[in-house]
Amino acid sequence: MEFFLEASLKGLNKWLRFLGYKTTICKNKITRKEILKHKNKIFLITSPITAEFLEKIGVKYLLLPRDSLKAQLKMLVNKLNLNTELKLNVCSLCGEELVSVKKEAFKDLIPPKVYQFYDEFNYCPQCKKLYWQGDHIKRLEERLKSLIEK
Ligand SMILES: [Zn+2]
Repeated sequence: MEFFLEASLKGLNKWLRFLGYKTTICKNKITRKEILKHKNKIFLITSPITAEFLEKIGVKYLLLPRDSLKAQLKMLVNKLNLNTELKLNVCSLCGEELVSVKKEAFKDLIPPKVYQFYDEFNYCPQCKKLYWQGDHIKRLEERLKSLIEK
């Protein structure tokens, strides 16, 4: 299940990536060319006009409520049975799959305290960014819980 998101859905895009889904976010208005290029993905949109067009050409889509991230996530969970576990295996910046790496190889990039306390490090080959499972994971988990609870 791969998603193509309207430019206004940046917040949702980030959360889908936290949950391990492959996503592409549109930089500008969704054009016909873009739709054809990504027609095998599920389009997440808030524009009824785009929805009408996607319907006509038989591309899968979900028309989401504007503005409320909570309502958007809830709809995805209900309609697509979305997994709601933090996976953190995809780069939240670019959507590339992260690679598990040995910390020794990246010692220069890691703050000493982090190096001491953590062993699991992931690397984005696209952004050259290193991720580790620090305190912020707890905060993400709490935020996620508050977003998907009824
Ligand atoms: Zn990246």
